[in-house]
Amino acid sequence: MTKKALVIGTGLAGLSTALRLTKHGYEVEMVDKYHQPGGRLNLLEKDGFKFDMAPTFFSMSYEFTELINYCGIEMPFEFVELDPLYSVHFEGDKRSYLIHKNIQKLAQEFKDIEPGFERKISKFLESAGQLFHDTENIVIKQNFDNLLSYLLQLTRVPVKHAPKMFYSMWREMEKNFDSFEVKVIFSLVGFFLGATPFDTPAVYSLLNYTEMVHDGYYNVRGGMYKIVEGLVKELEKKNVKMNFKVEINQYLERNGQVSAFFDKQGNKWDADLFVVNADAASFRGQVMGRDAYSEKKLDRKKWTLAPLTIYLGLDRKVENMYHHNYFLRKNFKEYASKIFKNTIKLDKPYYYVNIQSMHNPNYAPGGKESVFILCPVPDLRYKSDWNDSEQIADAIIKDLGERTGFDFAKHTETRVVLNPTEWEQMFNLYRGSGLGLAHDLNQVGGFRPSNKDEKLRNLYYTGASTVPGTGLPMTVISSRLVTERITREHGSLS
Ligand SMILES: Cc1cc2nc3c(=O)[nH]c(=O)nc-3n(C[C@H](O)[C@H](O)[C@H](O)COP(=O)(O)OP(=O)(O)OC[C@H]3O[C@@H](n4cnc5c(N)ncnc54)[C@H](O)[C@@H]3O)c2cc1C
Repeated sequence: MTKKALVIGTGLAGLSTALRLTKHGYEVEMVDKYHQPGGRLNLLEKDGFKFDMAPTFFSMSYEFTELINYCGIEMPFEFVELDPLYSVHFEGDKRSYLIHKNIQKLAQEFKDIEPGFERKISKFLESAGQLFHDTENIVIKQNFDNLLSYLLQLTRVPVKHAPKMFYSMWREMEKNFDSFEVKVIFSLVGFFLGATPFDTPAVYSLLNYTEMVHDGYYNVRGGMYKIVEGLVKELEKKNVKMNFKVEINQYLERNGQVSAFFDKQGNKWDADLFVVNADAASFRGQVMGRDAYSEKKLDRKKWTLAPLTIYLGLDRKVENMYHHNYFLRKNFKEYASKIFKNTIKLDKPYYYVNIQSMHNPNYAPGGKESVFILCPVPDLRYKSDWNDSEQIADAIIKDLGERTGFDFAKHTETRVVLNPTEWEQMFNLYRGSGLGLAHDLNQVGGFRPSNKDEKLRNLYYTGASTVPGTGLPMTVISSRLVTERITREHGSLS
């Protein structure tokens, strides 16, 4: 007998979960409030230009390979490895640093500012690698039935790693390196988690190992949205029906189970079991009406920074820039401590620039360029009015022009700016938080909203704000963990 699963959300976690469930013989249907699949992994098209809307690279590519092998299909997209990984520019410093994977080459970049770099980075990466391999299968890729099982599992992590839970990533940098630039560059992974190195525990230095040694960073040939197109094609082959512009806002309970969800138009969506790919914390509060996730309690949680994103279609090619570039300043500590709470002016922000048509020439008409700029900003709790977003974008574009010697403003043919209010509205990102719940130690593992509902037996969650965490590979792992739970509790039907 077949069982039907309704997946609410077509983000990467939703698509991956749907694909895994079809492999187990489930009939799957999907709904999403947005007009096309992908969630944050989406595509923007304007005036002949294309833009990856949010993610521009990923690590742990083998998690995608695992998904594809699990589902017994051919890889529907092609990875393109980034090496060098990215470039970093500091204000007032004429040179920029290219982050190579090859340690000898990388050491050349820092030879003037960090004596003994090769020895120092090798030691640092070795320790980060041990941490990664000692926690990957014990903590990251595990379902926890309750807090106790999580805490018990933690006791299996070698005790030598324990101190790293209690001091910050920045402190880890101070222990290993001397120069300001090197410390800043290798603590940028804190920002990839949507926080700052000062409030990210040192355990996350394991990400330095995944980027530099274990795997690296990847883009996808033809653009990041090829991931979504590829997965959707596979889902179509399995007769998975997708319904867009459908926002779920109510549910009906019967005998300890969800019997149906309802959308804003009052349409009923029923199934035997339900997987929520919307934010696992705010959905519990806003749709399920759970006290533990009331607005007040959600606001007290730690959320990742919100995005201000700028998409520029330029009338010519950009000169002298690499694909992935960070533009930073020298007031790193002050900036990091103030940015969350909006107590710093946004006219001189830190930002990331991705020249998208360098990887993917099809993203811009011949001789032209697609450029994406991401500036992490305070979420809507701390700055609710974004009427100044166009002016902030102007300031960033001017700054970028001055620092690169290329007049981005003059060569802009088309431009889109998306602020946290718009990000919140597009995908129901709580308070516009870009990466969902932060990864403080009291918000990971057994402390993170579970992928299994606390009350209703046939309700599950997948995605960035449930286990294990945010970022593309993590959401793929999330789809595996929730599928493991579902098949354990409802059986594999194939
Ligand atoms: C600007 C930005 C840049 C990023 N860059 C990177 C990067 O370079 N590399 C990387 O690995 N990660 C990056 N990330 C993080 C990454 O995008 C996310 O971790 C990942 O895409 C989350 O996927 P998801 O499936 O959990 O959620 P989502 O992609 O948010 O999907 C959830 C879906 O649910 C839908 N939905 C929500 N509520 C409802 C409802 N009530 N009813 C119906 N549908 C609903 C939404 O419309 C959405 O489509 C970035 C994120 C942002 C915002």
